[in-house]
Amino acid sequence: MDNTEIADRLETFAMMLELVEANPYTARAYRRAAETIRGAAVPVADLVRRNRVRELRGVGPGIEARLRELIETGQIAELSELERELSPDLVGLGRYLGLSARRSIQLARSLGVRTAGELREAAAAGRLRDVPGIGAKTEAQLLEALAREDGPGPRQGLLLNRARELVGAVAAAVGGEPAGDVRRWRDSCEWLAVVCAATEPEPVLDRFAALPQVVALVERQERRAVGVTVEGVPIELVVAQPNAYGTELVRATGSPAYVAAFEPLPHGRDERGVYAALNIPWCPPELREQPFRGQPPPLVEVDDIRGDLHCHTTWSDGRASVEEMGRAARERGYDYMAICDHSPAVGAVRGLTPDDLRRQADEIGAANDVLAPFRILRGIECDILPDGRLDLPDDVLAELDWVQASVHGGQRMPAPEMTRRVEEALRNPSVRCLSHPTGRYINRRPENALDLERIYQVALEEGVALEVNGLPLRLDLSGGHVRDALRAGVEIVCSTDAHSVVGLENMTLAVATARRGWATPANVVNTRPLEAILGPRAGRKAGT
Ligand SMILES: [Zn+2]
Ligand SMILES: [Zn+2]
Repeated sequence: MDNTEIADRLETFAMMLELVEANPYTARAYRRAAETIRGAAVPVADLVRRNRVRELRGVGPGIEARLRELIETGQIAELSELERELSPDLVGLGRYLGLSARRSIQLARSLGVRTAGELREAAAAGRLRDVPGIGAKTEAQLLEALAREDGPGPRQGLLLNRARELVGAVAAAVGGEPAGDVRRWRDSCEWLAVVCAATEPEPVLDRFAALPQVVALVERQERRAVGVTVEGVPIELVVAQPNAYGTELVRATGSPAYVAAFEPLPHGRDERGVYAALNIPWCPPELREQPFRGQPPPLVEVDDIRGDLHCHTTWSDGRASVEEMGRAARERGYDYMAICDHSPAVGAVRGLTPDDLRRQADEIGAANDVLAPFRILRGIECDILPDGRLDLPDDVLAELDWVQASVHGGQRMPAPEMTRRVEEALRNPSVRCLSHPTGRYINRRPENALDLERIYQVALEEGVALEVNGLPLRLDLSGGHVRDALRAGVEIVCSTDAHSVVGLENMTLAVATARRGWATPANVVNTRPLEAILGPRAGRKAGT
């Protein structure tokens, strides 16, 4: 059994665990192990036989036991059992149609069908109306959704990190590259697409249809197929003629408005060729939301970032120590990092008192001795209390190198009060950055009622930066807000809000979101050297 086969089985197992709504951490662990195994340079079966498989990242005792079972018996018994009970294609198609997993399974049982194809047949034969609980209205909706070519319309997208993982795995498996919303780094991805080149499309389409991530095909044409994932999100594969690969990649990357503005697209083997034929400069995918023919600005890149200014440790709700976080940041090539643990008012987790902060300073000092010239800054993520005061005394805040101010509790305030609350916090001379300014959770919680234009003005006057928080659920500010903030003259910080060493990887998401807002290195505070970070804040008010 080779690494790809092993990885495919683990990936399927992860998907099945998700289907039965098992512990999401378990499913994620199997998915991560599958990824490691897919990229491993040595045969994993050998590692298992030689009792060395735990040396692979993400393989613990539980996964090792499953791998041993798979190598020795050719199957994972629990997975085979799940596969007998559940039909992922049916659940995927059901979700695509707007049904919950449970509802799809009930529907299938009542109809006596096992696959997505059989469900379609039963629906076409008018059998849906015999199912208890399916009224004429639901039947009509389902039939309409099944019949519509472009799918059932707006649905909840996937978070960017999950979408990138999924589309990346599918692209790697068919030898193509990610396109669609993922390539534009949208915060919630609804249109997943992969483009690859082949003279003969059939074998590639077959491979795509057989992938564990693609639970059912809803469409198949000569050079294109649409599958659905178990989450019910459609994923499109385009198999381009090699001499038109660039054309199909441009077409599958831009927003509909962007692509429409350039149709009919000229043929090109790669994107550069297509843009040259259009006689316009190549455009970074992040900017392909609205038609744009000009010279794009030099957008900020991950390599421009010199430090991460919002990170947690075991002092509050992080999982790594001060030194572990610092060392990991230094390994990423940064010059500095700010430790910003929580203040007491955050409530749900432990927050740091003034006394804790002074004790933490000793630990930071010791870590700096070891890691020099890399520098860990003393920071705090200080709650903004409902009345606009900060959660720690001014003299304590003034001792610190970097103060993030954050709204956590009491987010449902009306706009005038919320705006006053945040404004007052930004007026505190120790505050350097406003964390996750809108407080949204993507697809879960709307933005706080906040007059952002007013906040941009105050931030500008006071010389406070606004954060682009890289947590996949936040991405806050969003790309659109970044653009507005930059137009207002405000500076931004790209941060990860990392709660672990792995969390530092979310810098790619923060930077991509800033790029969607047209940010250049000059707009981003943490592209600057340490001295600039430690200097006094430079507000318009102070300067005039
Ligand atoms: Zn926070
Ligand atoms: Zn935080």
